[in-house]
Amino acid sequence: VSTLFFTPAQTRQIGHEGEKAYPNECCGAIIGTEQGDKRLVDHLRPLSNSFDPGEQFHRFRLDPLELAKVDKEAGAAGMLVLGFYHSHPDHPARPSEYDRAHAWPFYSYVIVSIKKGAAAEMTSWQLDGGTEQFQPETIANT
Ligand SMILES: [Zn+2]
Repeated sequence: VSTLFFTPAQTRQIGHEGEKAYPNECCGAIIGTEQGDKRLVDHLRPLSNSFDPGEQFHRFRLDPLELAKVDKEAGAAGMLVLGFYHSHPDHPARPSEYDRAHAWPFYSYVIVSIKKGAAAEMTSWQLDGGTEQFQPETIANT
């Protein structure tokens, strides 16, 4: 499992997006580079939640076309899509069974808990391809 490095501004941005989307879930891509087991975040790319509007309070789905575009943009800039972030309105920053079932190995899955409209705990997770369970990933500040 790697370590994910955010700047304080990037951490705040995820919190703000979660607060704006509340009581729905926000989501976005994390773009940057990998140096050994360090994942250095360059920027965040907000994505639209393509889940049915009535379900967005507890589900997010990435639009495949939007995702393909983001992947291409990152590659053209010599970077990678390192992972994705989303918010948990009034729920802990722990992956749900839905999150686990829809996760892919390699990516960092960052979850921010939004409690009564205010950003709280933030965690990151990586899916172990063997056990198909999430492992906690350390978030560090640059
Ligand atoms: Zn979730």
